[in-house]
Amino acid sequence: MTAVPLPTLQVPRDSPAGRALRNRRVVFVVVAILAFAATHWPKLELAGTGGAPLDKLAHALNFAVLTALLWQTGWVRRLAILPAVMVAWCSLDELSQGIPGLRRTVDLDDWLANLAGIAGSLAFIAALRPAGQGIAALAATRRRCALDSLLAHWTAWLNIATAAALGAAVGAPLGVLLDSWFVRKGPQPWQYGFVGAVLGASVVAHAVLEAGIRSRLRRSHDDRPCLACAAVAPDAAPDAPCRTCGAARHARDWFRPIGLPGSEELRLCMMPVLLGMAAVIVFNFSAIAILTTMRLRSELILRFDTWFTTLPPDARIVADATGVALIGAWTLSRCRVRIAAEVDRGGERCLACGFDLRATAAGAGTGTCPECGEQFVRIGPG
Ligand SMILES: [Zn+2]
Ligand SMILES: [Zn+2]
Repeated sequence: MTAVPLPTLQVPRDSPAGRALRNRRVVFVVVAILAFAATHWPKLELAGTGGAPLDKLAHALNFAVLTALLWQTGWVRRLAILPAVMVAWCSLDELSQGIPGLRRTVDLDDWLANLAGIAGSLAFIAALRPAGQGIAALAATRRRCALDSLLAHWTAWLNIATAAALGAAVGAPLGVLLDSWFVRKGPQPWQYGFVGAVLGASVVAHAVLEAGIRSRLRRSHDDRPCLACAAVAPDAAPDAPCRTCGAARHARDWFRPIGLPGSEELRLCMMPVLLGMAAVIVFNFSAIAILTTMRLRSELILRFDTWFTTLPPDARIVADATGVALIGAWTLSRCRVRIAAEVDRGGERCLACGFDLRATAAGAGTGTCPECGEQFVRIGPG
């Protein structure tokens, strides 16, 4: 199986992919400037000493968002370098708050909260990388193309931002309600309101983004945009090179939707999801067991326990959320790898009915299943 290369960043500036990249960079720079202003504004109450109820949550969220946005700019080309860049950034950010005159403080707990946000963000970036080769990689490239053609327009960004704001407005009171009903540690409305707002914003923004990508994907089967730069040339032959960027185009690029039936995806995700849930439970119980049995025998563990229990409530929420995020990202990654492996077999086995397609011809990388009439894509020899 030959891997389909993902679009490079060397796309013309006036192509949809070029405009999408520029928009991503503008958003990143604006958010980074706002974040810098917020962490360095002289004596901002949020980061003050003691009573600030959202300080650690805000630190973690700030660097989680910055990590995700920086990755989207393409300025850091390798995922292995991203952690080093972000750790250096958040360390400098924290240290520079010690500049006299700002009346801010350098705080180890703040720095740890920054690291937690970066770790959670990196785990999801790694989990969301294109999985599989051949057909699954082609599906990932199509998705990337649909996303680029969407993000090339500022209206899409505006829609996503509006959706996030609405999600936060609904999520915040829900978080406070759930806190007062289920969490018996006493009232912490600030922290759970914030968590609810972040979750609400993420869920609603993601739903709007996903709906946008799907509508673009559906339209792309007729428009057949270039997979590298997302430019559409309605009158061009399906396999003529792209006029905007010169990339080669193939008949299979937008040939029928590639994907598994939902029930099949669910079946493949069952095991990773169960393992992820088990990991959360095992991790929790073993942490409690280790702390309770070892805290009287080990000075180090006693100190850790004392430090952890005296942290403000929002710092403990950050620690819990980071653990759940890391395990959640692992689960997501396993689901995606398993689904991609199944999709990659689509050239040999019909994705719709499971019929053995190895004896069926696929001219120009495309063919029709003799059993159910569903069209299929084959990449590689044959
Ligand atoms: Zn192109
Ligand atoms: Zn079939």
